[in-house]
Amino acid sequence: MTRASAAIPDPAAFLAQIDSVRTSDHPRFVRMLAQIHREAPRLNPAEQWHLRYLDAWQTAYQGDYTKADAQLRAVAEHAGDATLAARASAMRLTGLGFTRRYEEAFALADRLATDLPNIKDPLARFQVLFNLAQSMLLADKRDLALNYARMIESNLPPGATLCPPRSLQITIRYDSPTLTSSSPEFHQAIETCKAAGQPVYVNTLRLVMVDTYLRENQPAKALALLDRIEPGIKRNGLYAHIESTAVFRARALLALGRLADARTAALAALSLSDPNEISEALKAVYEVLYKVEKERGDTAVALSYFERYTVQDKGYLNDVSARALAYQTVQQHLLTGKLETEKLSRQNAMLRLQRALDAKAVETGRLYILMLLLIVAFIASWLYRLKRSQLRFKRLSHHDGLTGIFNHQHFIGEAARVLQASKKKKEQACLISIDLDYFKQVNDTHGHAMGDAVLKQTVAICQQELRPADLFGRLGGEEFGILLAGCSRHQGLEIANRIRIAIDATPMGHDDCVITISASVGLASTEVSGHDLQRLCKEADAALYRAKGAGRNRVVAHAGTGDLLDKEGIPVPGSTLRSGATPVSVAELE
Ligand code: GH3
Ligand code: MG
Ligand code: MG
Repeated sequence: MTRASAAIPDPAAFLAQIDSVRTSDHPRFVRMLAQIHREAPRLNPAEQWHLRYLDAWQTAYQGDYTKADAQLRAVAEHAGDATLAARASAMRLTGLGFTRRYEEAFALADRLATDLPNIKDPLARFQVLFNLAQSMLLADKRDLALNYARMIESNLPPGATLCPPRSLQITIRYDSPTLTSSSPEFHQAIETCKAAGQPVYVNTLRLVMVDTYLRENQPAKALALLDRIEPGIKRNGLYAHIESTAVFRARALLALGRLADARTAALAALSLSDPNEISEALKAVYEVLYKVEKERGDTAVALSYFERYTVQDKGYLNDVSARALAYQTVQQHLLTGKLETEKLSRQNAMLRLQRALDAKAVETGRLYILMLLLIVAFIASWLYRLKRSQLRFKRLSHHDGLTGIFNHQHFIGEAARVLQASKKKKEQACLISIDLDYFKQVNDTHGHAMGDAVLKQTVAICQQELRPADLFGRLGGEEFGILLAGCSRHQGLEIANRIRIAIDATPMGHDDCVITISASVGLASTEVSGHDLQRLCKEADAALYRAKGAGRNRVVAHAGTGDLLDKEGIPVPGSTLRSGATPVSVAELE
């Protein structure tokens, strides 16, 4: 049974700790990784993915880039954690370079560079920038690589030191004539990384220093330095360092003329790699071997190494051009993609424009409809006003201006029509003529305005006695006509008398001036006179005239040819009663 103390209390924190010692204390990293692997089943999914990332990192560190790439890709695609995905993708860049999958490397580099603004986690950002710099170095784009290195320097994640960006800058300047073994920045970078406790970075810089010594033809210094750093390099186990150490040793020994040692070292270097690979290291190893054999006079072996050297050299040159070509290809793809994007955005812009135009068209359409509606509304209101004024004119032309009842002309027209209808329906009707008595005196005594008021009030009094179907008109001055439709002579007399009484009984006038006035009324009925309007008018007028003559304030009905009675039933002088005719007087009605 495992002891409880073996359990890791906080796996996430433990994983973070493992992560932080990757390069600073690689042996501890390896131990801790093994330790957490024993707890693996207890980890939650996020922790599992972090562990897989660290495993992949270690696989790459040990030089198995193909296996590492598959692991890193799984993390990048399935971990569901943007930060871890960015770190895994960044890590892939290195491996893709080593395995010469340059196009993939540069395409991924571009994706990461594009995504850089979204990578907020400082550590992930740092790692992405670092690997981007390395991939630019691979493409021999040293300026771009240097830019990334500077970006790291100006944006260090918490707890990070200047060691990584400074050593990166030295690596970028590797091979450049401006970088010599005595360059102060070289030594400063080594000191910075030593102070930061980053042995892996220190070793990288020292190996660059060894190579610089060799280029400067100082093989003794190179060898001395190699002797000093080799134990540490072995301890840290970084494959690339181990390989470089072996190759540089062989080169240094050859330069020192120690042929046998050089040969041993070269063969040791050779055993580290697959001899069929094409690499800069193998090229250097075969060069050493061929030169050693040539010095030793073994022409046949020398020739065979030379052949391999040329293969490597050619392969290396091909590799350099392959990198350049891949970089250009990716750039070309990206450019095409960019053009495609631009085309798309142009199309989008055109679509937007089209939509805007459509919207404008709709708006214009709406405007037209609005204008049309306005025009229709204007026409409607114009027609309405026209109709109203027509009706007003019609009303004005039909009605009396002072009293509002029918004027003479309209009254006559309407009366003729009603009488026609009555005749057809065989209905009776009465025509009444009303004339105010001594009206001139009202005007003369109280003024014309008083006269007008009396006229209006007389009309109002008459209207109270009339039915809707009756016609009422002002025939002129203070004379009014009424046609009572569907009305017998008897009913007519009743109405006429009620009107007369009402006028007589109602005080009229305005303000403080109140008077009483009477009216004389003449009536003609269809029963006696037939349905001819002219005759009815004439006979009503005649009756009225007789009422005036009989002393005013009375109703006189035309009773038949010559049969005229006043309100007391007294025959009007000069008229004779026809035999058989019934004399009708108002008195009878009361
Ligand atoms: P009679 O009893 O015989 O009918 O006497 P009268 O004074 O009523 O008759 P007359 O025909 O002599 O006078 C009618 C007056 O009516 C004359 C005119 O000044 C007046 N008159 C006519 N039209 C109007 C009007 O619209 N307003 C006013 N205030 N007076 C009017
Ligand atoms: Mg009068
Ligand atoms: Mg009159």
